[in-house]
Formats: sequence, C-alpha cells, structure tokens
Amino acid sequence: MSSSVSASAYRCMRLIEIEQQGYSDWNALTQIPQASSSPVFSRVDDVEEKTEKNNLEQSLSQQPGTKKYLLMGDVAMDGARLLDTIILENGDISLILDKTVFHPQGGGQPTDLGVIRAASAEFMVKMSKEDRTTGIVQHIGSFSYGGIEDLRGSSLRLLVDVTRRKEMAAIHSAGHILDVCMVRLGFALKPTKGYHFPDGPYVEYEGTMSPEDRETLPRKLTAKMREIVSENIATEIRFLPKAEAQTLCSDADLTMFSERALVRVVAVAGGWCPCGGTHVGSTEELGPISVTRTRSKKKTLRVSYEMSA
Ligand SMILES: [Zn+2]
Repeated sequence: MSSSVSASAYRCMRLIEIEQQGYSDWNALTQIPQASSSPVFSRVDDVEEKTEKNNLEQSLSQQPGTKKYLLMGDVAMDGARLLDTIILENGDISLILDKTVFHPQGGGQPTDLGVIRAASAEFMVKMSKEDRTTGIVQHIGSFSYGGIEDLRGSSLRLLVDVTRRKEMAAIHSAGHILDVCMVRLGFALKPTKGYHFPDGPYVEYEGTMSPEDRETLPRKLTAKMREIVSENIATEIRFLPKAEAQTLCSDADLTMFSERALVRVVAVAGGWCPCGGTHVGSTEELGPISVTRTRSKKKTLRVSYEMSA
C-alpha cells in the first residue's frame, strides 16, 4: 500500500495541473533542440552512483522537453543554454532552457526558487513549472540585472535556493513517511491526493475509519513518524526498467510509462514508489513532525501534519 500513496497523489496533482495549464502556444515550443553540452554532476562518488547517473542520462534521453537533472538531487548546474523566452501578460519573463536543476511545481510540491546567471545578467526565478505533455519547463521571474540578450548564446549557471529546497523536500518527504506509517498502523486506505506546501500540508485517502480510530490516529501517527525520523533511514533513488519498478512498487499504476522507459523510484523510510519530487537524504533531516488532525468528508480522510514539535 505504501508504494502507491505518494505516487497516486503525484499523478493526481499532475493531472489537475495539465487541466489548469493556460498556455496556448505549447505546440509551437515542442520542436526545441536537444541538449548539446555535457551535464555537470556534483555527486559522482563511486561506481553505484555512476551507474545511477548513466541510468539518469538514459531516462532523460527518453523524456521530451527540458532535461531535468534535479532528479538526482542536484541543486546547481553550469552549461545550460537558453532556447526560448516568453513575455507573460503581467510583465514576467519565462525562460526555456535545454536543461534544468529547478524542481517544477507539481506532485503537490511547491516550486524551487533561485537564480540563473550569465556573465552580465542575473535572473531571479520565482516559479518553475512544467508542461506535462511536452516536458518543457518554464523558469518564470525577472532580471535583477542584465536582460534576455545577455543570456543568448551564453553558458548559464543555475543555482537553486538550497534552504528552500531542503524545506520543501522535508515537507514532501514527511508525506511519504506518513504513508509508510499508515501502513505500519494497519490502515490500508487508498491514497488520492498529497499537498506538501508549508501552509498546511496533508495527505488524503479514499475510505473511512471508525470515530475511535480517527480520534487516536494523530497521536499514533506522530509517535510512529518520530520513531522513523530517529532511525535515520537513508533515502534511495533508482532509475529502473518498468518491470523492476513495478516489482518494487507493486501497488503503483505505471501504465503511463512506456515499456522501454526507466522509471524513477524513490524509497523514503523504505517505502518504494515512483515519484518525481525532491526528498531529504535521510529521515533524520526532517526533525520533529506532528500529525495535527484528521478530517473525514464523505469517503475521504484527510490527515494533516506540520513540521514542528
Ligand atoms: Zn516523493
């Protein structure tokens, strides 16, 4: 059961986002050139990581649009290239690059923030968003100095706001752990939605629970989640052929992936599921977590949590 919760929430949110995308000119943007410069990795330490980097490269080569090197947790990159720009109605500028380390808002997880720099320009990214059909990521924001012409033809440096990345990754990872703990407590409810923003994160499940169980659930979940945090369990990320991913994530619906695709699967606290979000390196990074309340409406159970004692 644990393998499907975050995945289902992820898919759910992404489907909602596809419907909400308001841009009409995506078709014109799908024919962008492929990345030509070599990626810069920051964490190639040993054979196992190199293997995963190779798998990441293979996985990225299968994906359309912007190549998303954040998938191994990277927060900085050199050598990105500007492919296109869009001037939005509100005056903001959207930059489309050949590759990125910015996490696009989605899967119930907020956008990364940060800067894109060239020799004589700096662009402040206040929203990164991905068109799910084309895979193209927009970096929306404004220039603190310089302008679009200073980016054209330049090798761009991308720097993610690491403090915010860690905070958002922690909130999202806590959702994974909540899921793991629901299973450990014997509540195998089907997940339907995840909301991992700072202003009241929660996970929703399809199904009902007795009033007695609902009343004691926050206390039990809080205790179980803190137990997992103290165990300092390392997060694992793999890119696997679909069949292997399905074996690890037996309840997950992988029909969206082609048979030849490498699927990114993530285990936070040992619970494997397909996920495109950002995560803590180990559970201890989460600090104190509290499950604050449950809400039952029709056949939906919402479990809310916060990242504090
Ligand atoms: Zn995740």
